[in-house]
Amino acid sequence: MQKKYLMTPGPTPVPAEVLLTQSAPMIHHRTPDFSATLMGAVAGLKYVFQTEGDVLVMACSGTGVMEASISNCFCAGDTIIVTRNGKFGDRMKQLAEVYGLNVVDLSYEWTQVVSPADVAAALEANPDARGVVVTQSETSSGVLNDVKAIGEIVAGYPDCVFIVDSITGIGAVECKTDAWNLDVVMTGSQKGLMLPPGLAACTVSEKAWRAYERSTLPKYYFDWKKYKKSLDKDTTPFTPAVSLIIGLAKALEMIRDEGIENTIARHSRLAEATRRGCEALGMKLFAPPEGRGSAVTPVWVPEGVDGKAIVKIMKEKHGVTIAGGQDDYVGRIFRVGHLGYFGDFDIIITLSALEMTLAELGYEFDRGAGIVAAQTVFMGE
Ligand SMILES: *Cc1c(COP(=O)(O)O)cnc(C)c1O
Repeated sequence: MQKKYLMTPGPTPVPAEVLLTQSAPMIHHRTPDFSATLMGAVAGLKYVFQTEGDVLVMACSGTGVMEASISNCFCAGDTIIVTRNGKFGDRMKQLAEVYGLNVVDLSYEWTQVVSPADVAAALEANPDARGVVVTQSETSSGVLNDVKAIGEIVAGYPDCVFIVDSITGIGAVECKTDAWNLDVVMTGSQKGLMLPPGLAACTVSEKAWRAYERSTLPKYYFDWKKYKKSLDKDTTPFTPAVSLIIGLAKALEMIRDEGIENTIARHSRLAEATRRGCEALGMKLFAPPEGRGSAVTPVWVPEGVDGKAIVKIMKEKHGVTIAGGQDDYVGRIFRVGHLGYFGDFDIIITLSALEMTLAELGYEFDRGAGIVAAQTVFMGE
């Protein structure tokens, strides 16, 4: 037997309390019992999204709500500004293009942060833009983009909605939907919500509803209005993912018990320990100091070390699953996820397995230094 540790930025580990709720016998969804659970989950989502506005829940992975954000807010030919500094920004651009939008492409290196000044300039150059898209926490690069600053800029344009992919941001980093003027904020179940994959949620502001009203793009399963109308009657338009919603209610109860500010502080501590641990081993962090998120820590593979072997040995020999790099960074970086149900000792275990793996691959470093660095963070020294 080998004990396993899932240290990826999605799927993430599911707490036993949540798993147990999901193993109860199936209930019917058109019942007062299920309605109460659903509305409890929606209230919990409003708490984590920090919004008084609407939150819609759909049975799909994160990409489903990303697609819905396009099909519900725009018309073919609309101009939107898509910022991208990683794989998920690229995906939003592809989605916008599939729906025939005119994309103003603000593209960056994966190691760069999206510049709010560039967004302001793009809006001035394209005053007819109907939307701005930003990935708050770019999972492919670990970069954290400043959606608060960009929200202030977009708020000056009454016909332009601000769409934020916070799929690995929610529950890991601060994301104040209402206070920061974020019109559509998205997340997925298999990330900070500590659930299996299969559920996604998004917020819809008043401004976003106005965009919805003029939008002519085709939509049916992902038509926001259908979800809103049903939610007003404490239900869902189609058969919901019953077990996942029951699990969601439980997971959100756990986040409420911890308190969202504490949840975010815990993630920030885990991220800091991971960063310091990897640096103490002589490795370089991928994301720039001005924009490092707390969901995932990508690290450059040291010179002369086989990056794919790090991931493989960690998993096969030590039972610790981390993520490799994506696209151009396959084999060049590895990524440690610490998003959701994680505590200090998950990081100690991961750094320990990492040290053993690096030693096995012939990399020279001060044995134990990574663990000591992480302990130093956890002890507040
Ligand atoms: C995981 C993720 C998504 C959605 O991916 P799915 O595989 O469809 O769940 C989108 N954006 C970001 C930043 C993500 O991390």
